[in-house]
Amino acid sequence: MVNDFKKQIISVMDTRAEYLWGISNTLFNQPETAFKEYKACRILSEALEKAGYSVETGIGGLETAFRATIGEKTSPTIAILAEYDALVGLGHACGHNLIASAAVGAGMALAAIQPRIKGQIQVIGTPAEEGDGGKIILANAGVFSSIDAAMMFHPASKNMVLRQSLACSELKIEFLGKASHAAAAPEEGINALDALILTFNNINAIRQTLGPKDRVAGIILAGGEASNIIPAHTCAEFSVRSFTSTRRDEMVKNIIACAEAGAMAIGCQLKFEVNPGYKEIIPNKILAGLFKSNLESLGRVVVDPDSNERMGSTDMGDISHIIPAIHPYLAIAPENVAGHTVEFRDYCISEAGKSAMLDAAKALAMTAVDLLTNPEDLLKAKEELITALKP
Ligand SMILES: [Zn+2]
Ligand SMILES: [Zn+2]
Repeated sequence: MVNDFKKQIISVMDTRAEYLWGISNTLFNQPETAFKEYKACRILSEALEKAGYSVETGIGGLETAFRATIGEKTSPTIAILAEYDALVGLGHACGHNLIASAAVGAGMALAAIQPRIKGQIQVIGTPAEEGDGGKIILANAGVFSSIDAAMMFHPASKNMVLRQSLACSELKIEFLGKASHAAAAPEEGINALDALILTFNNINAIRQTLGPKDRVAGIILAGGEASNIIPAHTCAEFSVRSFTSTRRDEMVKNIIACAEAGAMAIGCQLKFEVNPGYKEIIPNKILAGLFKSNLESLGRVVVDPDSNERMGSTDMGDISHIIPAIHPYLAIAPENVAGHTVEFRDYCISEAGKSAMLDAAKALAMTAVDLLTNPEDLLKAKEELITALKP
């Protein structure tokens, strides 16, 4: 029976390939950035409505979020997540057009077999992944509280199911000193720029204690007004990342200590603000195993991430700490092409992009069938997450 469902998923996807490709290209050609994805939200939710889903938009207080639901809430609920925000100035250079059309495709294929399987499917439209944490806002509003497992795919340069992501935070620091004439009375000033420079130097001094995936990068947002005035106010922003949110939090504390030392040496007042950012992904191995065998059955070769794998951060990390989740990657570009570049953007409307989008849609739908027809696996996936979260 499961194999019949999977055959049907493949056939639905093959017949709707051009339709989905049309959706992907429409999104690509009219990129919308965080919280302004109005057209994308409408196009995606209308497509799901046509496929038989009941759709609510504006969920969780986010105008451009949506939830499309099919099936009774009497048994497990599996969510397929769609991202559709573009990058400021770069458009769809992260391939969220492909993520969105794959989620709709998986939704359409599951709608075709849904009357014959127990359980509910939700396709959730999650805005603002590129920095504003749309999924975290939705999770805080309870959107994921009735979901048993969540899945999505992301375009990349390799096929990988277990690649991690880094936990990240942003830290903004400000120094308040005292202005004075830089030549006539420098001794009467309190130099806020010196405190900031000491902070950068202190951070550079602790770099030797950082682990291989610990990252600190900073920029100066305000460094003074004029070279003949002792700066009374300076400001910098730091991006802090690591393998785990626990380690990231430790690093944030260390960087605050570096700033406190700078402030103390100069006699400035220090103010800081921490944006908690995203947690690291805990890829669920049960879900990843099912997704991998489905992807391999479609002819894709899946590779293990290597130990020095380059990685960024995503708000899917926070979801993976709440419910079993996967965020697998499908190759659309050669290995030397990184996301968030003009080169990667070209691959987001390429034949390789189309093929990855279709394979991802099929594998997501097939994995949802696996989970709905074998609740034992869902139970094991939940137990795995409980164990992973134990301190
Ligand atoms: Zn991105
Ligand atoms: Zn992305």
